[in-house]
Amino acid sequence: MSQKNPFQNYLEILENASKILGLSSKELKILQTPNRILEKEISIIGDDTHEKKFKAYRVQFSNARGPYKGGIRFHPEADIEEVKALAALMSIKCAVVNIPLGGGKGGVQCNPKILSDREISEISRGWVRAMADFVGPEKDIPAPDVYTNPEIMGIMMDEFEKIHGKSAPGFITGKPLALGGSLGRGTATAQGGVYVLEELIKIQNGTPEGMKVAIQGFGNAGLHVANILHSLGYKIVGVSDSHGALYAPNGLDPQQIATQKHEKGGLHHIYCEGNICDAKKLMADGVQIMTNEELLECECDILIPAALDRQIHEGNAGNIKAKIILELANGPTTPEADVILEEKGILVIPDVLANAGGVTVSYFEWVQNLANYYWTEEEVKEKLKKIMLSAFHDIVEFAQIQKISYRKAAFVLVVRRILEALKFRGRV
Ligand code: GLU
Repeated sequence: MSQKNPFQNYLEILENASKILGLSSKELKILQTPNRILEKEISIIGDDTHEKKFKAYRVQFSNARGPYKGGIRFHPEADIEEVKALAALMSIKCAVVNIPLGGGKGGVQCNPKILSDREISEISRGWVRAMADFVGPEKDIPAPDVYTNPEIMGIMMDEFEKIHGKSAPGFITGKPLALGGSLGRGTATAQGGVYVLEELIKIQNGTPEGMKVAIQGFGNAGLHVANILHSLGYKIVGVSDSHGALYAPNGLDPQQIATQKHEKGGLHHIYCEGNICDAKKLMADGVQIMTNEELLECECDILIPAALDRQIHEGNAGNIKAKIILELANGPTTPEADVILEEKGILVIPDVLANAGGVTVSYFEWVQNLANYYWTEEEVKEKLKKIMLSAFHDIVEFAQIQKISYRKAAFVLVVRRILEALKFRGRV
């Protein structure tokens, strides 16, 4: 089975939307083409005193609706096609939640798991130096993504301010609170997804009590969504990290699992050492060890991919048992899998809506930084809920009228919004 790259997948989804909209070739071309691609090399002195070089990217996809906005990921597989796709998705996502921002994305091809804190800090400063002329509060505002975090955002802000010789908290979002971060930003991606999920369950007349949830990925989004859903009465039956999954039909306590993962250095190590697993402990806790692939196909009501792209593909989509998929990761489902899921009647809440809570609270953080006036956590949550629910209802209503999937509805709706901005700029 040959897989298309993430950007080819974006083009395919766009093409589908364009058929419904009847776009001109000029309009389609603009939506297919990033405004600017920055590919640089970062060089640092490693802890072993040798020079280490890394590929660094920033793709500025669209600023039709406002400054470019989007995270920076540090990952061994971050390449230009992936970053381009993620930048395009950011333009769509910001338009879905109707915030006045465009789309961009950055990356460094590196493996943070084998780098020291000092090396990661040097890479972070190197990324800012390489991109300094092209980013800034009115141009392009980065944020965290896979394997980057508030501490890295703080270091990046420090480097940016050093270069420009002035305070500029609005340069980057997802910062620590002490540097102008926003309350509620850490949990925003998960919380936004939960608002939408709860609304969907409400319109289906369902109740959360006992609904079984499996979550792939235990990073920022995965861990927080597990905790929030657990506290609301959902049963968390499966969790996973990059090494494997734990499945417990009677439910897990995610916070307990997180504490043990932290102590043992990985989910797998809670029960196993190498290939040897403690059968008694597994039995006592009612837990089974699974692969990440097996977790996606497990018995559950709600599946939440919260890790990397292209996890649900034509090879496994047919085996998925969940009735709802909440895409907290970016691009977790391929277009081929989408067709299969639609045929099976599985409802997919697409990434551009499901995980848009993150960038929405990033927008709030930026607004607070520019105004130098800060909000309470209640204010942040209330504003986030309003935006998420309004985006959700726009999409659900449009999908019902057009009899199309939520993903297609989201794309069609927001391509219109982006084109409207381009028209008023006289660009199409
Ligand atoms: N990396 C997150 C995303 O993919 C957040 C982006 C942001 O806050 O700018 O949506």
